Amino acid sequence: MTIEWDAGRLDSDLEGAGFDTLAVRAGQRRTPEGEHGEALFMTSSYVFRSAADAAARFAGEQPGNVYSRYTNPTVRTFEERIAALEGAEQAVAAASGMGAILAMVMSLCSAGDHVLVSRSVFGSTISLFDKYFKRFGIEVDYPPLADLEAWAAACKPNTRLFVVESPSNPLAELVDIAALADIAHARGALLAVDNCFCTPALQKPLALGADIVIHSATKYIDGQGRCLGGVVAGSAKLMQEVVGFLRTAGPTLSPFNAWLFLKGLETLRVRMQAHCASAQALAEWLEQQPQVVRVHYAGLSSHPQHELARRQQSGFGAVVSFEVRGDKAAAWRVIDNTRMISITTNLGDTKTTIAHPATTSHGRLTPEARAAAGISDSLIRVAVGLEDIEDIKADLARGLSAL
Ligand SMILES: *Cc1c(COP(=O)(O)O)cnc(C)c1O
Repeated sequence: MTIEWDAGRLDSDLEGAGFDTLAVRAGQRRTPEGEHGEALFMTSSYVFRSAADAAARFAGEQPGNVYSRYTNPTVRTFEERIAALEGAEQAVAAASGMGAILAMVMSLCSAGDHVLVSRSVFGSTISLFDKYFKRFGIEVDYPPLADLEAWAAACKPNTRLFVVESPSNPLAELVDIAALADIAHARGALLAVDNCFCTPALQKPLALGADIVIHSATKYIDGQGRCLGGVVAGSAKLMQEVVGFLRTAGPTLSPFNAWLFLKGLETLRVRMQAHCASAQALAEWLEQQPQVVRVHYAGLSSHPQHELARRQQSGFGAVVSFEVRGDKAAAWRVIDNTRMISITTNLGDTKTTIAHPATTSHGRLTPEARAAAGISDSLIRVAVGLEDIEDIKADLARGLSAL
């Protein structure tokens, strides 16, 4: 059977479309089969019509796919959808969130450059800078996330890049992204924001003045705890550099994972809304519990940066941390006496997860460094999933009642 092909009406016109429409449709280009769902291109290489065709594509004289480390149509659909949602000219997918951070630094920084990374970033991000980038002559300093004066004071003539996570894990600290972008730009540096906890459904760092957005797509973009991936987004000029590194070095995204992320993005905003609503209800409930000393959630008016969170985000996210009365043993007792919530350090899943930061994600820090980061032994982190909120509360009540 030969299929007549005219893409005409088969692809959607998305001129002026809103967030949810872009989340469902952006980046899809239908094949001659007229499939309604996004096609999954599981192929490592692509065929050419002739030797001359192959030569022209390799020389870059003719557009087209060559090899899936360079381009893959399913991965490209994911990249275009993320770019549309973040308001970026271009997005580049990576094999994991760490792969995205690696690609960003390897492509935009050189030996002799100085990078500022907020103190409270993801543990592996700190290790990547401290153990590896330093070996290649990149200087790194770690200002406290929210202290704008400390960022300005830490700048040097060779400062090239600022890297932050806002809100931070697990204490939901924020930085004023627009103000930090001004500080970076006045020094000739770029600002990169890890938007993992909010996703573009709740926060648009580029619109606030950041130059680059990074994601661990493993979390809310997938949303169902199935696979790893990452993405970097920003101007076409900067992303050209990132593309060059990824294609050459190889930590590119699997088309299968890109396909799962496309399905995740289609429900991103409604999921985030539900996650946020449950997290808010849980945080307010936790504040009422006699065994709980303090709750860290930007949606609470008791949070010191509640007003900034309202201004900068359209929701407060789904990570709620709290300190219980007692020490490490008390925190462990609460965790061990839950019966539904999953004991795992991942987040961004439909399933609610619970973890003890001091002995897991932050376990390698010295006790002094942990104290400086505000991670006490009695701190528990919950990433609120999509189960019935009453069941989540009942399970935590069971844990708390063991104290
Ligand atoms: C998980 C995470 C990462 C790393 O992503 P992987 O997909 O696990 O490589 C980076 N930043 C933040 C904020 C994360 O939560």
